[in-house]
Amino acid sequence: QASSRYMSFFNTEMEVAANHRGQVVNEMKQSIFNNEFILDYQPQLDLSTGQLIGAEALVRWKHPKRGMIAPLNFIPIAEESDLISFLGVWILEKACSEAATWPDDLYVAVNVSCAQIEKTDLLSDIKRILEETQLPPSRLEIEITESVLITDKSPVFNFLTALREMGIKIALDDFGTGYSSLSYLHDLPIDKLKIDRSFINQSDADEKSRSIIRSITHLASSLKVSTIAEGIETEDQYDLLSSLGVQYGQGYWYARPMTPESFKEFIEAKKA
Ligand code: C2E
Ligand code: CA
Ligand code: CA
Ligand code: CA
Repeated sequence: QASSRYMSFFNTEMEVAANHRGQVVNEMKQSIFNNEFILDYQPQLDLSTGQLIGAEALVRWKHPKRGMIAPLNFIPIAEESDLISFLGVWILEKACSEAATWPDDLYVAVNVSCAQIEKTDLLSDIKRILEETQLPPSRLEIEITESVLITDKSPVFNFLTALREMGIKIALDDFGTGYSSLSYLHDLPIDKLKIDRSFINQSDADEKSRSIIRSITHLASSLKVSTIAEGIETEDQYDLLSSLGVQYGQGYWYARPMTPESFKEFIEAKKA
């Protein structure tokens, strides 16, 4: 029977996918213990003064056999299981303890996913980590992507509100690609809009991207939040963004993500 053959084919496909996922999850759990995850840091600067202001922590899996694995190949899998809580706490601990050794005018920005917030008591973890590492809350920024609409009744909303009460900064990541409507943004507890790379990429060639960036900067100033551009790759893009009034930025033009050791050298070089 064609239909049952189709079904069993389909089931096998799904099982393979599920098994693969289970395998990756198990492997990842072990890898956290084996210290196979690392954080790179990508410097962020003030576009008007050129000053280094902080860095975004970006996770990588340094797999003993498969080499360096990019976050998009394991974060989504971790998010589907409880592993994201485990990995997320490790990332926060690592980022905060490393940032505590930087000059005290620099902050660290850490990516946190909505799944992570919904699955664990992340707030208590963050309180504990700040205490243990002695990093002042003002030197931690949380980057959150709107994978779901954050309404005032959602756990994510409460989480963000509590973070801000503690003095932690919040950036809305990949801004312009998510759900944000004007009325909704007005009430959202955030400090920064992080303009998605897709608009920056095309900004030197494309008038539409430029006008989107312009609207975002106007929106930000009426909301009294700041703006940061990600993925600045050329000097032309940098010039354009600063002329459009974007305050902060990061991207290959300024610096690539780098190891903690290289970031310390970067800090020294900027001071000199
Ligand atoms: P994201 O938060 O939008 O991070 C920016 C990504 O753009 C990073 O990729 C970074 O290496 C890359 N990038 C930076 N500057 C440039 C540039 O000038 N040009 C181009 N083309 N790319 C640039 P990466 O490290 O592969 O991270 C990908 C995504 O994985 C991140 O996107 C973030 O959503 C997620 N991710 C990374 N680290 C973490 C983490 O610790 N926790 C969570 N939950 N997600 C993470
Ligand atoms: Ca980010
Ligand atoms: Ca981003
Ligand atoms: Ca992005």
